[in-house]
Amino acid sequence: MDDSLERYSRQMRFYGIGEAGQQRLRDSHVTLCGCGALGTVLANALVRAGVGHLRLVDRDFIETHNLQRQVLFDEHDVAENLPKAEAAARKLSAINSSVHVEPVVTDIDRTNIMELIRDADLILDGTDNFEIRYLINDVAVKTGKPWVYGGSIGSHGQTMTILPGETPCLRCVFEAAPSPGEGGTCETAGVLSPIVNIVASFQAAEAFKILTGHKEQISRDLIYVDVWDNIQRRIKIAPLLGKVDCPCCKHRRFEWLDGQQGSQTTSLCGRNAVQVAHRTAASLNFEELARHLGQLGDVNYNRFLLKFTADGHEFTVFPDGRAIIKGTSDVDKARTLYAKYIGH
Ligand SMILES: [Zn+2]
Repeated sequence: MDDSLERYSRQMRFYGIGEAGQQRLRDSHVTLCGCGALGTVLANALVRAGVGHLRLVDRDFIETHNLQRQVLFDEHDVAENLPKAEAAARKLSAINSSVHVEPVVTDIDRTNIMELIRDADLILDGTDNFEIRYLINDVAVKTGKPWVYGGSIGSHGQTMTILPGETPCLRCVFEAAPSPGEGGTCETAGVLSPIVNIVASFQAAEAFKILTGHKEQISRDLIYVDVWDNIQRRIKIAPLLGKVDCPCCKHRRFEWLDGQQGSQTTSLCGRNAVQVAHRTAASLNFEELARHLGQLGDVNYNRFLLKFTADGHEFTVFPDGRAIIKGTSDVDKARTLYAKYIGH
């Protein structure tokens, strides 16, 4: 056995993996969209298992209330104002230095998703957001790449695996996103860490099957689990393939990828915050911005983000021009606040 594989001996002893499966994991590229609750559990499992290359994409920074369930973060990361992707990559490199972990701090949208998944053998959903999931679904179906959907809220969660052309896609099953407020959000309904771990662990197992070439083993059902009400269900979705009039996988209309659906500025799921995506060609000069904003009070920045408070709103600005503005869910108001303090 190759010495570098020794650390994976217990995993390789499992009949479904073996040395050949381990080599395949090592040769794999995965793009993980979102590095919060599901994302940190997924990243942890993949990096420990020896996936070759993991691209971690996340737009957010770490806050204390994330620590209850986002397993790769700690209080130092909060104190350091680190973006999630960056903090996770540091932790993951210490766990397994042989894995190439590539943190990308950005908002996934139609303009960058193709680039983010270009070399991926698999796309994993660690987001909390249906808009991005439909975008992932579009790009996965268009390029024929497998992806694994996962979501959790309160005490329940669900997951399904999409192999384009072989299984129904996300839009075959959920034609439209739940309307805002429907089903609650992490802020209103809360979320328990066990359900996050369960859903992400199902997703990770599906990832291992796909990456080691065991597509015959993947789950063909939608799996639903509620850890509080003691429910475990497998919902048969396989018969939907080709039977529903799916705009995406049947008609190949990629409405999110083509920009007919979705928005640039979004109210963030239950956080009383709005993200204003205002991409700039060159990186923002934080030193200069901090000087301009200094008269308002404290401005803190590191090379990843800049924070200040104005008009009773907390602003977090990223080098690409994007900002998260807390204290409002009104998109127009957020745009106005952005223009007032950051510019353009
Ligand atoms: Zn479909």
